[in-house]
Amino acid sequence: MRKTLYLKFILAYVIFGIFSFIMVTTFVPSMTMEHLTREKADNLYSEATLIANTYANGLYTSETDLETVKVQLDSLAVYLESVIRIINPSGRLVLDTESPINVEEVVMIEEFDPTVTSGSYYMVGDFFGSFEGDVLSVIAPITTNYKVKGYVTIHCEMTEIEVSCNSLLNISYITLVILLLLSLIILIFFTEIVYVPLRKITYATEQYAEGNMHYEFQVESDDEIGYLAACLNYMASQIAGAEDDQKKFVANVSHDFRSPLTSIRGYLEAMIDGTIPPEMHEKYLNIVLNETDRLTKLTNSLLMLNNLNTKGMLLDRTDFDINKVIRNTAASFEGTCRKKTIAIELILTGQEMLVNADVGRIQQVLYNLIDNAIKFSHHDSVIKIETSLKKNKLFVSVKDTGIGIPKDDLKMIWDRFYKSDLSRGKDKKGTGLGLSIVKEIINCHGEHINVISTEGVGSEFIFSMALSAQNEEED
Ligand code: ADP
Repeated sequence: MRKTLYLKFILAYVIFGIFSFIMVTTFVPSMTMEHLTREKADNLYSEATLIANTYANGLYTSETDLETVKVQLDSLAVYLESVIRIINPSGRLVLDTESPINVEEVVMIEEFDPTVTSGSYYMVGDFFGSFEGDVLSVIAPITTNYKVKGYVTIHCEMTEIEVSCNSLLNISYITLVILLLLSLIILIFFTEIVYVPLRKITYATEQYAEGNMHYEFQVESDDEIGYLAACLNYMASQIAGAEDDQKKFVANVSHDFRSPLTSIRGYLEAMIDGTIPPEMHEKYLNIVLNETDRLTKLTNSLLMLNNLNTKGMLLDRTDFDINKVIRNTAASFEGTCRKKTIAIELILTGQEMLVNADVGRIQQVLYNLIDNAIKFSHHDSVIKIETSLKKNKLFVSVKDTGIGIPKDDLKMIWDRFYKSDLSRGKDKKGTGLGLSIVKEIINCHGEHINVISTEGVGSEFIFSMALSAQNEEED
């Protein structure tokens, strides 16, 4: 099975990890260093300005002497962890908190240029070669009477800033590790919640594609994935059910075709080889004829069911008088009824009752129901066909006092090829397709059919029909 989705997620995770690592090890240190340097420079610059305006200024106005200023600046330098200097515009070092006062010795800072920081108020470097390593330097002018007398410079070692930068960076590294671990948890969570169920679903679809419709799988979650899995399971079970029905159907059709064919063949062979003497031929030819009748009926029923299934709702609806159709259909059974001395009693509402339906199909329904009623009725009994109006619908009932249908069989009688055990002896010609056709036709009309039956007492089949709009106009 392809694992691309999972690989993609792992790849995305790795890229995310590498990208975050690069960010944290390159941009973050330089940005932090820059920020800390600027912050430190800010502080030092305000200190330098303060010194320039107070102690150092006093020095140039001769309000204080060098010794006093030195003592004060020394302690301030310790406090600021920096070096404080006072430099003349010419570059002569007047005071340095790092070395004692020596008036004799003139120390010059070569190439001292206070404008070196132009555009900014600090600089990083060895301050004109006067420090060994890199220092952060700020320069504040000492002005009296609008004249620059000298400069206060404060210098702080860069290593000090680097130390605090590193401790801040350590926090970023720890945060990165925590983030990576958290996203790993999300990845594991994703695997459990999405990937594993998805793999089950993919495997199941592969099974279904291979035709294994009975494959079942469980995804225990009530989110969209769980719903998808449940739908897929349901779809497969429906297809499996349809496949089973199909197999059963073909098995039934084959069986129902084979038995009459076997008996026809048996009788014909027996006639040819003389087992059945010529004087008996008529009797057996009649049996053969009966069997071919059965085959014709079976073929017609199958064709009818097939048409109903494929054409679905394609009905030729017209307004017609149901009473007339019932009378005609009942009349066509006259011969059969006479043989069994069965009477058909018609209890019809009104002379004429217009309904809206496919007349040919409804005739078929009536034919099948009356045929069954006669088949399963005892000799010398009465079959009642009744129509009644209820809630703007016409109900047609075909009721017999025959063998009835066992309670357990009631649900199954509508299934294709179903014949109850009771009926098998009575009706050898039955195909078990009649009621399926009836139900299919009634359902196509958007109506319902029901059966009330008690074994040994009789059965009543009732179906509803839509009344024609013409009835209402007449009312
Ligand atoms: P068949 O061609 O065998 O009559 P049907 O689909 O019409 O097939 O009927 C299915 C089964 O329902 C019958 O075999 C019989 O067992 C039962 N059945 C149908 N109508 C009646 C009835 N009026 N009385 C008793 N049983 C009936």
